Amino acid sequence: MDNLDENRVKKSEDGIIGFSIGDALGVPAEFKSREELKRYPITDMIGDGTYNVPAGTWSDDTSMTLATIDSIICTKTINCNDMAIKFLNWLRNAEYTATNETFDVGRTTLQALRKYEMKLDDASNCGENNEYSNGNGSLMRILPIAYYIYYKDIKDCKEIYNIVKQVSSITHAHEISILGCYIYVNFVLELLNGNEKFEAYKKLQKLNYKMFSNDTIERYNRILKYDISNVNVDDISTSGYVVNTLEATMWLFLNSNDYNTTILKAVNLGDDTDTVAACTGGLLGLYYGIESIKDTWKQTLKKYDYIISLCDEFDEILNLNNKAISQMNDMTYSSPVIYNRVIGEIKKLIGDISNVENIKIYTISEIKNNYDKIPNNNGVYFIVNLENTPIQFTDDIGNIKTEYQGKSLLYNEADLIRKYNSGDKTILYIGKAEREDGLRKRLQEYIDYGYGKNASHRGGRAIWQIQNNKQLGLCWIEVDNSEKIEKQLLTKYKQKYKTFPVANWRI
Ligand SMILES: [Mg+2]
Repeated sequence: MDNLDENRVKKSEDGIIGFSIGDALGVPAEFKSREELKRYPITDMIGDGTYNVPAGTWSDDTSMTLATIDSIICTKTINCNDMAIKFLNWLRNAEYTATNETFDVGRTTLQALRKYEMKLDDASNCGENNEYSNGNGSLMRILPIAYYIYYKDIKDCKEIYNIVKQVSSITHAHEISILGCYIYVNFVLELLNGNEKFEAYKKLQKLNYKMFSNDTIERYNRILKYDISNVNVDDISTSGYVVNTLEATMWLFLNSNDYNTTILKAVNLGDDTDTVAACTGGLLGLYYGIESIKDTWKQTLKKYDYIISLCDEFDEILNLNNKAISQMNDMTYSSPVIYNRVIGEIKKLIGDISNVENIKIYTISEIKNNYDKIPNNNGVYFIVNLENTPIQFTDDIGNIKTEYQGKSLLYNEADLIRKYNSGDKTILYIGKAEREDGLRKRLQEYIDYGYGKNASHRGGRAIWQIQNNKQLGLCWIEVDNSEKIEKQLLTKYKQKYKTFPVANWRI
């Protein structure tokens, strides 16, 4: 079981410190072969090595990542010219470096920044655009862009593509590099959305890649078409080619159980150790959390406090804290029409049994990070479809238990479809919280179960056989006699539709 804590607020320091520590662990071993590292593995954060720098020194990967963050802080948006200026400050003036020294600069990056320096063009037109300029130089600095997109709530794939394309193209303008960044960013987004790692991977594979040519997509077949996690380690290359780096990163992450052992495994694969460990460390850090990283590494990392304070500023610019609060105060979906439809259906059912004013509706994924907003009182609750489109069912329910004492916990899909087609299309489940179990405890158990935790809440589990169930709506009404009211609601529902709501099976 992963020790992923889905309740945590996703601060950028998780990913960025995870990334920087991977870089610093990899720096002394860069270009060493896998065979050599098998004999003399890296087991700790050490100095000297390839660049003869002190322990905890990070390289270009982290410097360019921090420059990108600083640019977003300064401009409050994505401004490629400003990013290029900050990259030049790193290149020429050793800004954003660990020890006030710039080292480990990639060829394509150098060429592009020189071009910009000579004012030949806008920054996003300066990147090299030939097939031989597909090193991992833009992938290694793209992580902040994923945080930006996540917290700005940008959902449109075309818009995400355009941002990633522009930012990559400051140095790496070829489609292969852009697609590498696009996959990484989208994978991070799926993880930030609270998906378990294989669930995130599956969703990543289902995304739309039509803006890329088939030739380019095929380069990433082992990630997008097959399952990269099953590849034998001998077939995982850690060269500086962007496709190889991304494959190694995904392979390491998908096969991980924690930060500390996986990051050493990344380094000891050899070759482009710092970038592979940095990109992997970004994913591990945001998934397992900064507190899971070995303390001595955090203490040894150069300018740790500076990176943390930059991340804090970044979070503030991205309105991270405000977002968590605003999700709870406002409907996060845009349409009042949907809200009125849902409340209307509940009102029809509840009649004069209880007051239905001021009900707030949250998606399951939102309330997942905010259980303290649910009252402890008794009450009835509703799971509702917020979309205007019909729900779809699936037997593929991720890591949720499908069996208990030899019996299947899955409902027959045909039965679910029949119930759904006869019933109301909005209200999918009615539940209650009573006696010592208040709404908060009850709903937390219910939702935890839906996220694959071993919680003892199997009632209403048909909800987890609905596709995109984390985007279903949830709302509640506080009432004292919840058991009686739940019965009244289900009876009334059955009288009207001749069946129970799709995830209710009996009174
Ligand atoms: Mg490097």
